[in-house]
Amino acid sequence: MNTPKEPAAPASNFLRHIVERDLAAGTYASRRFAGTPGDAMHHAGGPPDPARIRTRFPPEPNGYLHIGHAKSITLNFGLAAEYGGICHLRFDDTNPEKEEQEYVDAIIDAVRWLGFDWHAPEPARPFEATTSHLYFASDYFDFMYRAAEALVEAGHAYVDEQSADEMRAHRGDFATPGTASPFRDRRPEENLARLRQMKNGELADGAAVLRARIDMSSPNINMRDPALYRIKRATHHNTGDRWCIYPMYTFAHPIEDALENVTHSICTLEFEDQRPFYDWLLDWLCKLGLLAQPRPHQYEFARLNVTYVITSKRKLKALVDDKIVAGWDDPRMPTIAGLRRRGYTPESIRMLCERAGTSKAGGWTDYASLDIALRDDLDPKAPRAMAALDPIELRLANWAELFGSDAHREDCHAPLHPQRPEIGERRFQLGPRVWIERDDFAEAPTKGFFRLFRGNRVRLKYGYIVECTGCEKDASGRVVAVLARVVADTKSGTPGADAVKVKGTITWVGADDGIAAEVRLYDRLFIDAQPDAGGKDFKASLNAQSLRVVTAYVEAALANAEPDARFQIERHGYFVTDRLDHASGRPVLNRITTLRDTWSK
Ligand code: ATP
Ligand code: MG
Repeated sequence: MNTPKEPAAPASNFLRHIVERDLAAGTYASRRFAGTPGDAMHHAGGPPDPARIRTRFPPEPNGYLHIGHAKSITLNFGLAAEYGGICHLRFDDTNPEKEEQEYVDAIIDAVRWLGFDWHAPEPARPFEATTSHLYFASDYFDFMYRAAEALVEAGHAYVDEQSADEMRAHRGDFATPGTASPFRDRRPEENLARLRQMKNGELADGAAVLRARIDMSSPNINMRDPALYRIKRATHHNTGDRWCIYPMYTFAHPIEDALENVTHSICTLEFEDQRPFYDWLLDWLCKLGLLAQPRPHQYEFARLNVTYVITSKRKLKALVDDKIVAGWDDPRMPTIAGLRRRGYTPESIRMLCERAGTSKAGGWTDYASLDIALRDDLDPKAPRAMAALDPIELRLANWAELFGSDAHREDCHAPLHPQRPEIGERRFQLGPRVWIERDDFAEAPTKGFFRLFRGNRVRLKYGYIVECTGCEKDASGRVVAVLARVVADTKSGTPGADAVKVKGTITWVGADDGIAAEVRLYDRLFIDAQPDAGGKDFKASLNAQSLRVVTAYVEAALANAEPDARFQIERHGYFVTDRLDHASGRPVLNRITTLRDTWSK
């Protein structure tokens, strides 16, 4: 588990070394791409820019981004920023079926919110056609199809008309080499004609696929003539019904990188076995004159795994579809939208990603690391406030006696932040009735309990010392009010009693100026640290206590805050006013995290 306390300086990692090596060697200093004006590549990358590295973050718009994506975002955008390069945001929308505009919008929103930008750094280079580097892979379909035809013509691809079952059976496995398809040795002209029929809608869905012609006995199964194009009559969110064939991800992705002049194509380790095909494809397209060297290279790193969350879009979608959570932005979801709504800051998420490191060795990052990062971020800046989350009334019996009337109020003040007096104070009033936390009173105190019990004295924080005289119960025996008196200085008879020493201090909210608020106490969504590891049913380890809604009393400052304002509620943790539901007069607060880790045991 990886939970460092100190914010570490950006540690170097193998990717930084690779970038530095390439910059020093001028690897990408002379890049020049073939192609004609009007090509996707001109739209995308523009002419070469010698000194700049280019990375990309290429989400498929088939769900909301999650904390694992945040790692990829901070890495790709971070590297580009660090070395004066550009990071593209590219929608890998080559699969027409599962992609939606809602997801495109949510992804753009999440990347921006995390603090990243796909615009070229200023000043824009004179030769840059655009400084905005947001792309859609589907804009390259024409080029991809031309590349497919070129491969066919050169004898490096063929149309296979075996059934899906036959193809699977012929692929072999780790121990057995594959066997050649009967269609493998068709002449290029025949393949080209067939490919055009595929494209023109003359063949049924699934009747044929275009395959690369590489090596059916390769020890790497990905090199056993992988599929490049399939027939699928589906309406695409960008290209509509223009195409009935769609490129496979493994074919499309390297081309997307190359067209955009990407230099370092960084992905997670599961793509390591795809790298030989990435290289094979781009090298052939360079040799065939469709692309030019130096071409992009792929580098893999270990994905971010965080305990107590799942990061498969498919499974997250199931939580949404099955209404186990209230939506993609439910504050318990590990989506960027959910973490944002919960109150986590972009800084804390970036900190988590940086601290988790970048390497080839996988591992798990404890969810607690995110809370530690959040506390490190908010502790120095979040204003403080008081609240009673499980409120019970405290009555001060001698108030009128001391102050002449129960209508009298004492003005109290407290710093907005204990270490930053310059940012000001908050003000509230103490009267004969205040709200305190139910568990700050005990009828039968255990050893070491220093708060309210009959005969004990505590300080009401920023207010007076009080002595508990007992409690009031309802017919069922439940405590409904705690009784106390203000301790007055014995000599002067005035309250204040600073000479009196007490062991306990409790927080409180005035019964007049405290405001009722809906407080949503969030906790982890799963009780199992690895809810879906090894094919486990993640729905079997849902935490029944992941959301508890209480009516609390809070300081007026909380109620009047704008939505999405963060506070430390003293003794309770960090809270945010809900960005959608909070309104002044109708306060709604989310607990981001407690002040301490309560899960470490
Ligand atoms: P899923 O498998 O749940 O659909 P995905 O990884 O296929 O997720 P993409 O939209 O393809 O989702 O991901 C975009 C980028 O984010 C990819 O480059 C991918 O490697 C990266 N990424 C996804 N999950 C993680 C993770 N846990 N850690 C680091 N990078 C990740
Ligand atoms: Mg993917």
